[in-house]
Amino acid sequence: MVTIALDLEGTLISNAVSQIPRPGLYDFLEYCNEQFSRILIYTAVNESTFREVARVLVEQGNAPSWFVNLEYVEWQGNYKDLLFVPDIELDRIVIVDDREEYIKPKQKHRWLPIPGYDYPYSSCDRELYNLIKQLSGFLTRQK
Ligand SMILES: [Mg+2]
Repeated sequence: MVTIALDLEGTLISNAVSQIPRPGLYDFLEYCNEQFSRILIYTAVNESTFREVARVLVEQGNAPSWFVNLEYVEWQGNYKDLLFVPDIELDRIVIVDDREEYIKPKQKHRWLPIPGYDYPYSSCDRELYNLIKQLSGFLTRQK
């Protein structure tokens, strides 16, 4: 039983303004849903904006319907501290984020980095598929 925390901007989509889905987003989210017992959105975007972004992604067929109701992590300060997540054990959670500066230095071993999805937002980007491979290896080691 492992929890995955997902960043939004630069990881799953371009940003909350342009909202371009990263190639493979739907498949990646379905993979997470099959392999992880709990999925969280851990983002600097506020919750109502996230819900609206998610609603549009689902409407356009770029995310599964459950994405709209994803558990949203409330946090404050400089770091996406994993201890802000209710009811978790630090050795049973992984965070995916494109920005190292958000990761608490003592929690870097729980972080899987992904290159940022940046301009020009290539439709050939394969980083979410690469991430699936990395996560599969991580889950094997975690067992
Ligand atoms: Mg980001």
